[in-house]
Amino acid sequence: MDKTIKSGGISVQTEHIFPVIKKWLYSEKDIFLREIVSNASDAITKLKRLASLGQYDGDEMPYRVDVILDPVAKTLTVSDNGIGMTEEELDRYICQIALSGALEFVEKYEGENKNNGIIGHFGLGFYSSFMVSDTVEVITKSYTNAPAIHWVCGPDGEYQTSLGERAEHGTTVIMHISEEESAYLNKGKITEILEKYCTFMPVEIYFTCEEADDTDKKEDTPPTPVNDTTPLWLKNPSDCTAEEYKEFYHKVFHDFRDPLFWIHINADYPLNFRGILYFPKLTNEYESIEGQVKLYYNQVFVADNIKEVIPEYLLMLKGALDCPELPLNVSRSYLQNNTYVSKVSAHIVKKVADKLNSLCNTAREEYEGVWNDIRTFVEYACMRDRKFYDRVKDSFLLELTDGSFVTTADYLEKAKEKHENTVYYTSDKAAQAQYISMFEAQELSVAVFDKQLDVQFLSIVESYTENVKYVRIDADIAGALKSDEAAAEDKTLADLFVAVSGNEKLKVVFSALKDESVPVLLTISEESRRMEEMMKMYSMGGLNMGFNYPVDATLTVNTASPLVAKLGGMESEKQKLTAEYLYRLALLSQRKLTAQELQEFLSSSYSILDLL
Ligand code: ADP
Repeated sequence: MDKTIKSGGISVQTEHIFPVIKKWLYSEKDIFLREIVSNASDAITKLKRLASLGQYDGDEMPYRVDVILDPVAKTLTVSDNGIGMTEEELDRYICQIALSGALEFVEKYEGENKNNGIIGHFGLGFYSSFMVSDTVEVITKSYTNAPAIHWVCGPDGEYQTSLGERAEHGTTVIMHISEEESAYLNKGKITEILEKYCTFMPVEIYFTCEEADDTDKKEDTPPTPVNDTTPLWLKNPSDCTAEEYKEFYHKVFHDFRDPLFWIHINADYPLNFRGILYFPKLTNEYESIEGQVKLYYNQVFVADNIKEVIPEYLLMLKGALDCPELPLNVSRSYLQNNTYVSKVSAHIVKKVADKLNSLCNTAREEYEGVWNDIRTFVEYACMRDRKFYDRVKDSFLLELTDGSFVTTADYLEKAKEKHENTVYYTSDKAAQAQYISMFEAQELSVAVFDKQLDVQFLSIVESYTENVKYVRIDADIAGALKSDEAAAEDKTLADLFVAVSGNEKLKVVFSALKDESVPVLLTISEESRRMEEMMKMYSMGGLNMGFNYPVDATLTVNTASPLVAKLGGMESEKQKLTAEYLYRLALLSQRKLTAQELQEFLSSSYSILDLL
């Protein structure tokens, strides 16, 4: 019936493009459907625009895209009732422009490393259908009254154009799926691709799969589109409810838990992008904090976690960003040096920091409630980006041993009479209980830094701030707990403690502490302990580094303690035994004893009991 009006071959160019398309793009073949469906959606958007400009009378029928899978006929069809093409347009857009676009794409792509190539394989367009098809047919009728056209192109790139049959305007693309790609004849596979790439496309999309025997299986319920044409990020933030944000989150990220809070970005000219970022709830610190930030281009999904657009440390968040201005048909290395992209990225960072600051300043209770969930994220972000740290440092909370929260500035302000520019912290409330109680007795606040990331975080923050030091409570007792009273040195006692400790390098100092109940205290300087922790972290702990008695351990003998006063007057055997016992007790509140130390501790305990 078709009268052939034209036939041709996409000669020289096809020789390049067909094999290259098939060879280079095997890893992300799925995108062919996104390309064909987004063309269909664009065709409808164009027609709507013409109608709104008064250049087209419009019609009553609802605009829609249909995706129809026919496993028996081995075809996948995408049909729209959009603008359609005249014969001349089809020749220009499909045979010439589309081809040259695809060629250009393939040329660029060929030079790129596969994993580092073009984001989301954007720009391949219509010709990506040949990644999965032997033959592709296009039946199209322009919204002008031009006759319908039928175009068929085979695997060798030879095409034929003839008059086609189509009553209404729009385009139908019929892909004859090749033998090797028969996976695309599977209903589940097509559903999965549509869900991934088309969930938020702006025109309603319906998917049907022709069943082999479906005469009595036809469902009575009206079909529902597979997509949501007005995703939440397009709405004005002031019109969105908390329920809507949560529902969107559950649906998009398949996370049944509620997010902690969210940031709705609505950047106008010149950046012009929108999106919603969520802070997810983590159940424990070791849970992978791998978030998911989906990138869209005019509601068409591009790819997840594109670190050129959003800094890698923000990828712990979950969210959707729609950037219609992004140059996607370019390589990643190009994006990295693109000023528009870096402005988008900087804007996102600013919005995240603004949100934390505004919660801290205006919703303090809520902020404290989520602080422990977001702390790891904030720490990591601060470590990675000094600018982010500078933005949020005033909203960084310290959790105190009593469970309350203060900002670092408030902590320092309150402590300034007693110790300046030092934040005392504990890394283990149970193991360091004795030190904590000494601090608390003096009404000194102790912050809790007991997470894995904390050691590194504190070192980095110190390098940023210079004048604020973070000191673990068992690292420098004298500084915070010393009274003003002078303390007499006692050389004999000092030598005795060195002798019983078995550590020649032990430094013994005499100090009158405010708390007289504790006779001796062992401290290890912040620097050498951190060094030891770092070594352990980088698994050098396996080597015996000889840290049983840390090199710069200091024993503070509290001259205010009645027991220490008594110690001076004891006869030598008893004095030695008591000093040894006191030393072991000090060691015990510092760290876990080794097997040998425990053995020695037990035997000196028995000897002491023997004296009773
Ligand atoms: P791109 O979409 O990036 O322009 P394509 O190769 O996908 O590149 O398509 C080339 C052109 O073919 C489109 O710009 C459009 O003019 C035309 N076209 C493709 N599909 C359709 C369609 N379903 N309806 C109308 N025109 C279409």
